[in-house]
Amino acid sequence: MLEPIVLESPLVFPHRCPCGSGKGPIIDTHIELGNYGRLYVCELCAKTYAQKFGFADGKRLDELSEASGLLVEKEREVAVLTEQLGALAGENAILEKEVKRRDAEIEGLEGRVSQMSSTIRASAEAAREHLQLVDA
Ligand SMILES: [Zn+2]
Repeated sequence: MLEPIVLESPLVFPHRCPCGSGKGPIIDTHIELGNYGRLYVCELCAKTYAQKFGFADGKRLDELSEASGLLVEKEREVAVLTEQLGALAGENAILEKEVKRRDAEIEGLEGRVSQMSSTIRASAEAAREHLQLVDA
């Protein structure tokens, strides 16, 4: 026999709990009842059964139910943040590549500046020598 599972909504006929509610989360018992179809148990019925068995009092069940809802909400938030983090990591990788490309470009330009400075110094030296020849 398959373990009951909790679904966001009932997947097969009759798509509801015997009480008439089809609202999720809903337990899929995997039990097929002839013409009735799949046996689902809604949250409200499960809560009532748990109370009847004395598993927890109503207040405690409300707290657990609320905490469970909060957990689902937080898990969704974590999923969204994880997705955003992934996107930012991708952007960061692109920016790092751009920084490397610009660093290489700056290095190349510094090399050219250094080369031009040498050429200018050599030209100035040559000009000074010419002037000395003229003055002499
Ligand atoms: Zn129900």
